[in-house]
Amino acid sequence: MLSIGAFARAAGLSAKALRLYADLELVVPARVDPVTGYRFYRPDQLGQARLVAWLRRLGMPLNQIQQVAALEPARAAEAIGSYWARVEADTAERRALARELVRTLSAAPLTMRYAAGSDIGRVRAENQDTSFAGERLIAVADGFGAKGWPASAAVVEALRSIEPGCTADLLNAMQEAVRNAGSGIEAGAGTTLTAMIWTGAGLALVHIGDSRAYVLRDGGLLQITHDHSVTQLMVDSGRLTPEEARSHPQQSLLVRALDGSAEPEVDARLQDVSPGERYLLCSDGLSSVVPTPQIREALVRAENPADAVKALLDRAYEAGAPDNVSCVVADIRELSP
Ligand code: MG
Repeated sequence: MLSIGAFARAAGLSAKALRLYADLELVVPARVDPVTGYRFYRPDQLGQARLVAWLRRLGMPLNQIQQVAALEPARAAEAIGSYWARVEADTAERRALARELVRTLSAAPLTMRYAAGSDIGRVRAENQDTSFAGERLIAVADGFGAKGWPASAAVVEALRSIEPGCTADLLNAMQEAVRNAGSGIEAGAGTTLTAMIWTGAGLALVHIGDSRAYVLRDGGLLQITHDHSVTQLMVDSGRLTPEEARSHPQQSLLVRALDGSAEPEVDARLQDVSPGERYLLCSDGLSSVVPTPQIREALVRAENPADAVKALLDRAYEAGAPDNVSCVVADIRELSP
């Protein structure tokens, strides 16, 4: 005979579950000590206990388990099969209803208002950044190396040429377009990319390098991309604070970028949006010289995306504009009737 503890361990159940099964007469102890009340089970009861546990995991209600557990194995198999067929039919119906609901609710017409700006800054000899804002695409790319500008322009152009289509395929299409553009970049050059495509109800984001995407939501500014930079790795591992990273000598060293070398690892995901949100894409020419609270303040104060872009470029100039600086601002609005 096994004690309830030993039996529970052998069956992979808790003692509490076994007491419940005893109350329901699903697995009844073979002996209950009349003095101590301790429960004992025979080893040959393990099969029944495991069957009950299995049916519980399937989500079968306890009253049905009582019926199934009392059947001969062949009849029990039939009963379990028909139970599961009903579950699948119910689930299929609920799945269709859920999809319909999502479609209906997301048909609430939203629209994106946008503006883009890019400036050479005070120090650099040429502007290698590319910024773009249009009805479907917003993007910032920060080229580097001898032919940094054609590189940043090419990757943004590759995204512009993606055909509208099903959202499920969109992220794959974007990643593929980015990889193809990346493989065409000449040796010695490269670019970052942070870009979003408007799906009509949300934004599909692709990101590689240290350009950034932020969302201003309820007055708070949240960075929604993760820099692929050496200093970010140091911040992640606790060796630098974000403020120290801003002035670190290796601040612009990237661990990931599109540079024509091996298959690039491009982050891609869908971003849920809500009316009233304001998105910012920017190159490090903004984020590495203008402190985040100042970026937030400029975004909060601006009436519209064009004013926000201008205010942010002005802040970068006030901070010395040592690098090319690019900003795209996009507002999510309800489409007025
Ligand atoms: Mg830069």
